Amino acid sequence: MNKWLRRTAIFLGVMIPLSGLIAYLVVDNALARMYGETTPLAKPQLGAESPDKYLLTNVQVLSADGRGFESDLSVLIADGTIESIGHAQTFGNSIPRVDGGGQYLVPGLTDSHVHLWRSRNDLLLYLANGVTQVREMHAQPHHLNWRETLSAGALGPDLYLVAAQLATYPFWEGLWRTFTTERQVVGSRSATRARIPALIAQGYDAIKASSFLSREHYLTASDAISDSQIPLVGHLPLEANLADLWSSNQRELAHVEELVKALAREIGGYTGAKQNEFLAHVRARRQAVAKQLRARDIAVTTTIALVHSFAGQKLDLQSALAQVEFNYVNPGVARGQAMGWLPGVNPYQVPASRKVGDWQRRYADYWDTYAKAHVLMLEALYAEGVMLLAGTDASVPVMVPGFSMHSELLALQAAGLSPTDVLAAATRSPGHWMNWNTGKIAVGYRANLILLRDNPLEDIAATASLESVIIRGRFLTRQDLDALLLAVEHANRAAD
Ligand SMILES: [Zn+2]
Repeated sequence: MNKWLRRTAIFLGVMIPLSGLIAYLVVDNALARMYGETTPLAKPQLGAESPDKYLLTNVQVLSADGRGFESDLSVLIADGTIESIGHAQTFGNSIPRVDGGGQYLVPGLTDSHVHLWRSRNDLLLYLANGVTQVREMHAQPHHLNWRETLSAGALGPDLYLVAAQLATYPFWEGLWRTFTTERQVVGSRSATRARIPALIAQGYDAIKASSFLSREHYLTASDAISDSQIPLVGHLPLEANLADLWSSNQRELAHVEELVKALAREIGGYTGAKQNEFLAHVRARRQAVAKQLRARDIAVTTTIALVHSFAGQKLDLQSALAQVEFNYVNPGVARGQAMGWLPGVNPYQVPASRKVGDWQRRYADYWDTYAKAHVLMLEALYAEGVMLLAGTDASVPVMVPGFSMHSELLALQAAGLSPTDVLAAATRSPGHWMNWNTGKIAVGYRANLILLRDNPLEDIAATASLESVIIRGRFLTRQDLDALLLAVEHANRAAD
């Protein structure tokens, strides 16, 4: 080999891996930023910790069936568990007491559809809003680590971790998406079959199907999971139809939207010109669909507030952002390229090229009809007694972690659910579905509780009158909750 050839070979041999490494580091850094990892950790200044064992006195306790309150009770909390419930005088005077001030004691709320990404401060936002359990719908190995730190005393809600969604893509796109969106990309039946026990072994609580899982691999996953202990949840893949769902082992749908989209596919897709046909089809089919779900014991997560936000995000994103608690949104996530919130990166905004003619009227009509279809479907699910799990898709724009839970509960009440049933969708039902001893105030249940000034069984808006949160037994006062919020706000500002 002559001298020049050898030099060129050496040069390329160094430069190609080096530029690969640089490209990797640049992308990795951008990912850390857009998933909220580079925002400083919040450092809240909290009051003294409550004792391991104390008597919470003078509270109105939500009955075990969730349908009423019993007044002037005391709850003995020890080592993170409800040890006893009764009248104060029966407990003697040796146990430290916390006065509940006659307020309403209800189970801590569960948001059954959240995305934590790498934004650890979100854990504090959930607690500050009375959300003591979340179901993470795109869990990564670092969330398994977070769960360890929580059980060792860190602050945050209990985490139910659904493994990152299974998806099918062409080879190169699959590699890219595995890296950037951390999806579980499966390219063959055998890979799908092998992935499920691997995820279970890592410690995840459920397996998730994505919209982009092929029908073939969806049916394979469903089959592979039939004899495992953990559920298949999530989306109904776009290639699949409701008949596939009925024959699957799927135990939950991550959105009412999955049903609405499946019904739209039955009429060849929903376009603006087909608004009346679409709504008529939803009306004609909804009861039969709800009956099937009920018969198969498939739960449905609501995410209705998100659907209601679409029209606003399409038409006037700045106003939509101004209506939510944007100060608490992780700035990295808000500016991120994947699921960013701000103009320019928001996935819901209308591109400038489409803003022609009477686009505002067309978009408003289309998305209002879409939202109507969701309420129609939800009414049928409710009427047929399908298990509803209140969930928000938190961290997806414009669902602010923790705060969005209250918007969802209001949206469910506005859609016709009684306050009692809305509260159940955020407490008893998710507790039952996850097979956790949460969501009920009963002996042996986790002491994950909230104190409200107003009665949520009269109007679910009462969840906004939050005064205290008890997480794994630790009592957080209103001042503590405000300190959590302030610390997150400061951290977000420091990230700028
Ligand atoms: Zn989601």
